Amino acid sequence: MRTANLAGRLVLVTDDGLAVDVEEASNGRFGSDPQEIYQQWRAFRTWQADTVLPPGRPFVSADLGSPTPRPRQVLAVGLNYRAHADESGFAAPDTLPPVFPKYVSSITGPVSEVRLPAGGHTDWEVELVAVIGEEAYQVDEEAAWLHIAGLTAGQDLSERITQLSGPAPQFGLGKSYPGFTPMGPCLVTPDALADPDDLELGCTLNGEEVQKARTRDLLFSIPALIARLSAILPLLPGDVVFTGTPAGVGLGRTPQRWIAAGDVLVSRIKGIGELRQTFRA
Ligand code: ZN
Repeated sequence: MRTANLAGRLVLVTDDGLAVDVEEASNGRFGSDPQEIYQQWRAFRTWQADTVLPPGRPFVSADLGSPTPRPRQVLAVGLNYRAHADESGFAAPDTLPPVFPKYVSSITGPVSEVRLPAGGHTDWEVELVAVIGEEAYQVDEEAAWLHIAGLTAGQDLSERITQLSGPAPQFGLGKSYPGFTPMGPCLVTPDALADPDDLELGCTLNGEEVQKARTRDLLFSIPALIARLSAILPLLPGDVVFTGTPAGVGLGRTPQRWIAAGDVLVSRIKGIGELRQTFRA
């Protein structure tokens, strides 16, 4: 199953790429709010499996919002691919990767224009994103997928000067400027992917491939992350876990490279879809 946030309304996306309004198709049993649906995820899945949908209508991805527009928590994981830890100059984590917040005000849909912070060094980080369906607290790895509503694509845009300055790093702030958390285009349930633990992801800057990897190379898989994070705090329905970026960010290059005004960043995950960000000063 694929869902999306079309102009603020929850839709199902058919195999033909058409949108079916959930509130209308369910005669109001499920509301139109793309965030609230995670509170009823299991009932929604059951209804969807048992329902013959009415015809959908075409849409353009520029009209999509984030599949989870107002999560209560956004947890982002760092150094979760060995080659990215290497390029960043850090040892790969062995028991718990670094975790930081991305603040909710930075969330947008998949197609957006992002204003570059003045004087900053803004960098790209394509990431697979997991969205929580059922609350997960002290869940073990074997049960973790049962708590995932689905997967989507995300960009963990990062202003490196803010992120790395001061006596202790400012990951949360450096990665939370307006527009720095685009997500989408849709949410894909794990059963709709051939192997949700092995997806190809990457991004291009002005058409040049800058990142390409597979999620089987995550040091901490999605189940491992859910187990370790939920050992400490409850992951709530609709919450977001950014799973970390592979190698190829601007920070790790020689010379280092940053996003400039006019640049176009396209991020893709096979089986999920793409994000498209354009940047202005
Ligand atoms: Zn990241």
